[in-house]
Amino acid sequence: ALPDTSPQTSDALQVLHRVFGYSSFRGEQQEIIEQVISGGDALVLMPTGGGKSLCYQIPALVREGTGVVISPLIALMQDQVNALNALGVRAGFLNSTQDPYERQAVEQAFLADELDLLYLAPERLRTESAQRLLDRGRVSVFAIDEAHCVAQWGHDFRPDYLALSMLHERWPKVPRIALTATATEATHAEIVARLGLEDARHFVASFDRPNIQYRIVGKNNPLAQLLELIRTEHAGDAGVVYCLSRASVEKTAASLVQHGIDAVPYHAGMDARARAANQARFLREEGVVVVATIAFGMGIDKPDVRFVAHLDLPKSVEGYYQETGRAGRDGEPATAWLAYGLQDVVQQRKLIDGSEGDEAHRRSLGMHLDAMLALCETVECRRVGLLAYFGQTGTPCGNCDTCLAPAESWDGTVAAQKLLSTVWRLAKERRQKFGAGQIIDILQGKKTAKVIQFDHDALSVFGVGADLGTAEWRGVVRQLLAQRLLAVEGDYGTLVLTEESGEVLGGRRSVAMRKEKAPAAAARKESG
Ligand code: ADP
Ligand code: ZN
Repeated sequence: ALPDTSPQTSDALQVLHRVFGYSSFRGEQQEIIEQVISGGDALVLMPTGGGKSLCYQIPALVREGTGVVISPLIALMQDQVNALNALGVRAGFLNSTQDPYERQAVEQAFLADELDLLYLAPERLRTESAQRLLDRGRVSVFAIDEAHCVAQWGHDFRPDYLALSMLHERWPKVPRIALTATATEATHAEIVARLGLEDARHFVASFDRPNIQYRIVGKNNPLAQLLELIRTEHAGDAGVVYCLSRASVEKTAASLVQHGIDAVPYHAGMDARARAANQARFLREEGVVVVATIAFGMGIDKPDVRFVAHLDLPKSVEGYYQETGRAGRDGEPATAWLAYGLQDVVQQRKLIDGSEGDEAHRRSLGMHLDAMLALCETVECRRVGLLAYFGQTGTPCGNCDTCLAPAESWDGTVAAQKLLSTVWRLAKERRQKFGAGQIIDILQGKKTAKVIQFDHDALSVFGVGADLGTAEWRGVVRQLLAQRLLAVEGDYGTLVLTEESGEVLGGRRSVAMRKEKAPAAAARKESG
């Protein structure tokens, strides 16, 4: 930090130019930095890529002493420190990956006031020895990165973060800045309460990314649909394709390569060296497509990613926002494309039912999924829905699929009643449960081998839904699941009624549905 005893905000601009080589602050960076330099607390809610790091790095450089950054991303600390060192900033880190000698050297530098920034894992800060170390040195600011990790209901809660409330008790004079890219009202309030940030100034950036075009399409033949997207709109562009499983990452990458696209896989199960090589190619070369699990992307900063494609449904709106947010950081037009189908809902519900943790945890996962499904099924502007999730308002954007080609809705009440009563009859008259495929065959009056085997053509509901096609019926099932008017259970994805199903069956509730779009020519196989 600079030797000057009374830090000035003009110092901040100087550091921005001299150390980071940028000409001006972005968004609210300057106000945030001023607040912290003057010794006040700040809570910063800013989307990924918004420029949160400078908000604590510059105060750490301007104020006397060392800025202590608490971050859960241990794997990224070395990279962050290297990048800072390359700029001439004196940075170090303390975490479990170091041997005692490395650790000691960093501690010495801190005590000698020779560090501008010290990165610490939250579990390390909990140790008495780390706390005594901080007592003996001089801390200029505490930065709590990924602050949403204190939120019990969040998707990556860390118990170690709860202990961070002691920062203020133990070092009341040191200003604190908490930062996160997750901005739901509930998380926001929980961060304030758990970290004791009642006196902090709040800085809430807009979460809108106007250059990203959001599109969510029905999944028919995902690979063909993806190929069409790349060929017609993103030939030669850098992009990220997200898949849920390692196996589908491998398979998808191989297929893309077969079709002449420069694609590489990336997932946690790969050999570390091969993975690093693929990441390096994506970052350094032009037009490489990374096919990855969500393990990919944390801390990746590539400005010219032109598309992010999801072949599987993200688990939450936060996840979707964060992953799609890796597109178009340079501000140029980019596409966020998601293919989603009935199978996704079945699979995600199964994952939740089988997940570890208590009932409350499962309920929280279920709520996150419901919000994601609502975004998929909305007939309103995607961007408005996305911003609303983060507690922000917007007007229809003109740059998402529903704005560009307004989705039609239809009264699906009668269809819902037919479907729900088929599920009900099977359970009541036959004590049977079946998956969507068999239910739809019954509704459409198809005498398949399995229908005949179970004598389902004798049911009174057999053939009552011949007026709708298979894609439409799958859409009905999907939307009933999204609205929790129907549920899936077990390994076979059997359909069961919910407490609310009765309201539809009894005619007390009507069901609006999004009309299925005709599948693209490329997409023939029925797997959605
Ligand atoms: P976040 O942590 O919010 O995801 P980062 O701090 O990593 O975002 O910043 C994202 C990118 O924007 C980085 O490449 C960073 O160098 C760049 N950046 C941040 N602030 C500015 C600025 N004022 N001028 C130019 N580039 C900036
Ligand atoms: Zn829109």
